[in-house]
Amino acid sequence: MKRKEHPILHGLGQRQLSSPAKAALRITLTYVLFGVVWILVSDQVLESLVGSGELYQYLQTVKGWFYVAVTALILYGLVVETLGLYRDSQMTLQETNTKLSEQLAKTRLSEERYQLAVLGSTDSIWEYDHPSRRLFSDDRLLKSLGYSEEEAQVSTIEDWLKFVDPLHLITVRDALVKYFQNPDPVVEFTYPMVAKDGSIAWIHTRGYAQIVSGNIQKIGGSHTNVTLQKQYEETLYAMAYEDPLTKLPNWNRFEQLFNQHVSENPEGTLIMAYVDIDDFKNINDVYGFKAGDQLLTQIAEDLKLHLGNDRLVAKLGGDSFGLLRSMDHIPDQREIETTLLPIIHRSRLIHNSPITVTASVGVVVYPRDGRSFLDLMQLADETMYESKRRGKNKVSFHDRIAHQNRLSTLNLLNQLRLAIVTGDFHLVYQPVIRLDDQLPTSIETLVRWEDANGQPVSPGTFIPLAEKHGLILGVERWIFRKAFSQLREWLNKGITLPLSINLSGVGLTDDHFIDEVLSMAEELKIPTTAFRIEITETALIENHDQALHHLERLRRDGVKILLDDFGSGYSSLTYLTQLPMDVIKIDARFVRQLADSPKNQKILRAIVTLGNELNCKIIAEGVETPEESAMLRAIGIRHIQGYLYARPMSPQALLDWLNRNEVTNDPSIHEPS
Ligand code: C2E
Ligand code: CA
Ligand code: CA
Repeated sequence: MKRKEHPILHGLGQRQLSSPAKAALRITLTYVLFGVVWILVSDQVLESLVGSGELYQYLQTVKGWFYVAVTALILYGLVVETLGLYRDSQMTLQETNTKLSEQLAKTRLSEERYQLAVLGSTDSIWEYDHPSRRLFSDDRLLKSLGYSEEEAQVSTIEDWLKFVDPLHLITVRDALVKYFQNPDPVVEFTYPMVAKDGSIAWIHTRGYAQIVSGNIQKIGGSHTNVTLQKQYEETLYAMAYEDPLTKLPNWNRFEQLFNQHVSENPEGTLIMAYVDIDDFKNINDVYGFKAGDQLLTQIAEDLKLHLGNDRLVAKLGGDSFGLLRSMDHIPDQREIETTLLPIIHRSRLIHNSPITVTASVGVVVYPRDGRSFLDLMQLADETMYESKRRGKNKVSFHDRIAHQNRLSTLNLLNQLRLAIVTGDFHLVYQPVIRLDDQLPTSIETLVRWEDANGQPVSPGTFIPLAEKHGLILGVERWIFRKAFSQLREWLNKGITLPLSINLSGVGLTDDHFIDEVLSMAEELKIPTTAFRIEITETALIENHDQALHHLERLRRDGVKILLDDFGSGYSSLTYLTQLPMDVIKIDARFVRQLADSPKNQKILRAIVTLGNELNCKIIAEGVETPEESAMLRAIGIRHIQGYLYARPMSPQALLDWLNRNEVTNDPSIHEPS
């Protein structure tokens, strides 16, 4: 057998020390060898060189001294070398000794520590001998659970099982049977035990089994009390999967249960509802957060109580709930409305005040509307907002076409945002004609925009969109700057037709936009009489006072105001008398209906009279046919705008058109329309 080398002794050096006898023998032999060679050789050499005589005698003596000197030198070298080796090895030995004793001390310390750890913990060490079915376990764990030394004596697995929580005994037994049928080297179980005082302690038993040809021989391991960990895990689970207020499953759990359902039954129909309490903020504001919380808790309880066990109720966010139900048919809107909405819409007594709320619901169907949880929830949320738009306390089903429309609107909106930054618009100009001599009296600015595919998007579409999403000022700032620089160019050329620019309600009521417009004009030295502002009635309805204030300001500065689209919406004649207006533009739709509606003809006649009295000029828009033109003229209208005379044109096309009509220098153009 090969002897194991000590790691520290290993590599002491190649030149190892021989035994003292060997070292002495080496020195002696070297001495003898040198002596013999000297005696045999030196006398003969001397004799052959000088013969025997007095010189020979003298040299003999010298040779003797030489011999002593050389041997002394050799002896000295050998002794020094040998003693040096002894010293080296002694030092190494000393080092080794120190290291060994240090290690020994360390080992002793860790052993002591280990002993302390075992003694201090409540863990138990156990060993099970399978052939004899004997279980040895120390009593530390059971004692820590309050049992006496006698009670804590166990010698079989059955003895141990007596301490297991009876509610879990069958499960634990099943797990044990399964293990012994199919043993694995690593054994691990976690189960509840009953402590002496009746409380439950969770125990983790771990062990390592000795298995010989598939049969268990011995298993050894430990029992650890993991109750605290278990409680911690439960708290964490609740935090991750439960709504703290209502104790309903939260969004994460809702998703888990949905996925579980879908993996078990991928083609089954699931109805998912997103329920959002209407105006919940009001409740919080008026009655306080506590009342709000109480209301949500009660709604959660009512939903659970009334929707039965076949539906999952979850709390998704601040004031919204999620419902999930497996069904064999897709229910209709009424069915859900009549079952769900009344559960929420009822009076509840919160802090002695009766509170009633309603909810808006969005419904999606798996797999018809989508397969992924997030996609479906997003659609359900969007659909819920549809219910809000429809007036709240309603149920809406996801509508694919409406959804597509919303998506393309969002897409358009993104493109519009980009266009504002890049200034990707252009302007066209449409003249207004005086019927008497068919000469232009003013020009209207109209904006044009092409989307990413180069398709023109009507301003009738993107202007309201920009208004709704807070982008209109960006668009109009660009329009005014462009229109003013065009106007400057024309003024330089001597074209003095006033230029009408459309202004949205947002632009009109904004605190600074009118100032911005006026200073833009001033910068380019554009007189306030050279441009006009067209506004619609709807622009005046919202924020009426502010709008009026800004209109008066513009008029004071000399800017004429045109009321656009009259007769298209909420037009009211009383408005006309109150508003600071210079021109009324009759909407194209009104013009279109004129021939078939004697009533509209009468109204128009009245407006003309009223206009004359108020010193308000009138322009009819969208005139396409000579018949329309003739009828308007008969009613007393003198100015018209429409394809019949001129379409909206590019600046160059407009110049050509003006040249063709030879009006550039006609003095009559200075007359206001
Ligand atoms: P609007 O101010 O009433 O503009 C008149 C609309 O009628 C323009 O449509 C014009 O091209 C169109 N039109 C003119 N003559 C005829 C005709 O004989 N027949 C027909 N069928 N249509 C005619 P457009 O340019 O599509 O503008 C639509 C609306 O978009 C405008 O109505 C206005 O409300 C808004 N808009 C256009 N440009 C601007 C702008 O620069 N700023 C603002 N705020 N709104 C604008
Ligand atoms: Ca207009
Ligand atoms: Ca109009």
